[in-house]
Parts: sequence; structure tokens; C-alpha cells
Amino acid sequence: MNKMFLAATPVLEKIEKAGFEAYFVGGAVRDHLLNRDIHDVDIATSATPEEIKKIFSSTVDVGIEHGTILVLFNGQGFEVTTFRSESDYEDFRRPQSVTFIRSLHEDLRRRDFTMNAIAMDRAGNLIDPYNGKMAIDNKIIETVGEAAERFKEDALRVMRAIRFVSQLGFSLEQKTEREMANLSYLLKHISVERITAEMTKLLNGTYREKALKIAIETNIYSFWPTLFNDKSIIKSILSLPIKPLNEIELWILTVYLTDETNSNELLRKWKLPSKKIQFILRSLSLLQRRKDHEWTKYEYYRAGIEISTIVERTYQASRNKDISEIESNIHNIFKQLPITSREDLTISGKDILKWCEKPAGPWVRVIMEGIEEAIINNEIYNEAAEIKRWVKSCHLP
Ligand code: ATP
Ligand code: MG
Repeated sequence: MNKMFLAATPVLEKIEKAGFEAYFVGGAVRDHLLNRDIHDVDIATSATPEEIKKIFSSTVDVGIEHGTILVLFNGQGFEVTTFRSESDYEDFRRPQSVTFIRSLHEDLRRRDFTMNAIAMDRAGNLIDPYNGKMAIDNKIIETVGEAAERFKEDALRVMRAIRFVSQLGFSLEQKTEREMANLSYLLKHISVERITAEMTKLLNGTYREKALKIAIETNIYSFWPTLFNDKSIIKSILSLPIKPLNEIELWILTVYLTDETNSNELLRKWKLPSKKIQFILRSLSLLQRRKDHEWTKYEYYRAGIEISTIVERTYQASRNKDISEIESNIHNIFKQLPITSREDLTISGKDILKWCEKPAGPWVRVIMEGIEEAIINNEIYNEAAEIKRWVKSCHLP
């Protein structure tokens, strides 16, 4: 068995010894059956959170209102969630309160898709009342129970379905797809943050092209906040070689193709983290500059290797060019630069102040950049005496 499961097996054993049931559930079981990497193991149990806290000496209440306790065991953390049923969905969103139950089958029934509703005991036996294993073998995503009902309960499942398409390359079962198309408008009740979390996974998925096509066919795209809510934008993206691009690069490319001036506002509507927005905006402004002209060595240096690579990849992708060698090309350019960042300089701002005997001010930065440019262009060596001579000779402001 996978080492993630093995590490969690004593936790299951301990719960069982105390007289309760415990199983592996959800994404870990699905990914295990698919031979995919498992990133976290979820445990479901008949014990209530209070009972779990009595069994283990070290626990953290990470989501006790939903029945989830983090159990710390052998230096690792394991999320243990009490079997629960979710009734009383409000406004097509996940319920405010949950009911703890003792039946595994009931717990599996409230899960979204059959591939996610499989439990596995510590011996590796599957408990699979909704034939999730068969769905996985046939590469099918289908809801547990009546599709319309399930999407009405929680419209986020519409987004989850296509992000799983993107990650796994599976197809949607007919009825599931039909009801997604009928009910995608319910996404308007879902918070942007939750939609964006699924979109991030979608854009990172290997089969994002398939997922984006389904987003158009089912009309889901039209309930997205901005940018991707434009059919022609998605179509132009799909016409480009986007397979190797990562999520950030896809955001950059999308804003670039949208050709709007208010990029900041557009990205804010998706409520992306502001750090991410800043990074995208900086890349975008450099992408515009890249569109104007081939970069000099100094321009690469200023942008840094990470953004240079992203800018070149998105630029060439936007022109329908092969981008498979860009990363190594940019790497080579940087390998040949005498310095790759200010930290590589043999001198600092303090040296400049000492040499020039002037009070500190913005002029130091100007000199510093001059030095960097001169070194990058091989006019001087990155060597203190030579830099000093260069500064003293004629480059004081
Ligand atoms: P990932 O690999 O992205 O973590 P996952 O299937 O584990 O995928 P999670 O969001 O971690 O997804 O949820 C864990 C499990 O909880 C799912 O496998 C599914 O059984 C259930 N689940 C999660 N979200 C919903 C939902 N909106 N409706 C019903 N069941 C859900
Ligand atoms: Mg998970």
C-alpha cells in the first residue's frame, strides 16, 4: 500500500480499538486507484469529534463544526472527519450545519461524484456502494444520485466537475453534463473565492483544454467573474499551444488577449491574492515591452530569470509558436551574464556613498543601475577597484 496510507494505518487501528469504524475516503482513495500521487489522506469515522479527542492525546480543532479534527500522531497530522449527512442546503450552497451519523453509507451518499464516494479500510478493501471504481475504470464523472438534485444542493459541484475533467481527463456522464448545463446559472450563488479555488486547479490541470471546451458547451463560463467569461477569449486561448503553460501564465495570456486597460480591476474581480495580481501585472507590462522589441541583455537582467521566462513563453505562445525550448534558452542567456542580480555585485550602496562623499539620496540608485548596466554590457568587470574608477571618472550625477 502507498506510504501515505501506511503512515495513517495506526490512526485507523486506534479508532477501531476504541470501538468505532474508520476508513480512508475521498480524493486519496480515488487517486490511489488511479495510480496518481496522493497529497493528503482523509479519514472518515463513526466516532464523533469529542470521541476522537478522547482517543488521541494530541488533536487540533481545525473544523470541528464540520466534524473535522486534526490528529497529531507520530509527528504527522491526519484529518479525521466524523460521518455526516448534509441536509438543509441554503440557496444552493453548502449547508451551514451538519448532522453527525454512524453510517458510512450515508456519509458516502452526500459526496459529490461516485469516484469520490469510495471508502477503503486499512486492509485495502473497498466499500463502494455507488460503483465509483467502475466510474474510475471507465474514466467517467457522475454524481452520486440524481444529478439535478445534487447540483441544486451545492452549485460549486458544477465547478468541481470540470476541474476534475481538467485534472483527470475524464468525461462527464451524459445526465451529469446535461444538468450541469441546465443548472450552471446557480453558480451565481457561490462565492467568488470558492469558484476561483476550483478555477486555479482547472487551469493547472493537464486536460484544461478539454475542461475549457466543456465550460463553453455547458455555458458555465458565462457565470465566471471576468476574462474567461468571454467565449471568444476562451476560443482564442484554445487555438494557441497552451498545454505547457502554467496557471499564472494562463492568467497573463488571458489578460493580454483581452486587450483591456483595466487589468488590475479584471483580476480583482476573481479575487486573486494581491501578491499574485501584482506579479501578473508586472509580467504583463513586460510582455507589452517584449511585444515592442527583442530584449537586450540588460532588459533580461532587470526582469530576472523567472519573469523573463514567463514573458517569453507567453509571448511566443500568443504568436502560436513552439515554446518547448524557451526555458533552456533563457537559462543559457542568464548563464552568460556576468551578474544575475544586485546581490552578485562586489560593491554596495555604502561603498558608493563613501567614494562620492555626498549625502544619501535617490542618486545612489541611479549610479547603482548604471554600474549594473555597464557590467552586463561588459564595459567594466564586477570588481571593486574598477567600479570605483568608473564611478569617479564621469558617472557622478
Ligand atoms: P483534491 O485532490 O483536490 O483534494 P478531493 O476529492 O480530495 O480532491 P476535497 O475538496 O479535498 O476534494 O474533498 C474531499 C472529499 O469530500 C471529496 O472527495 C468528496 O468526497 C467530498 N466533497 C468535497 N466537496 C464536496 C462537495 N461540494 N459536495 C459533496 N462532496 C464534496
Ligand atoms: Mg482532498
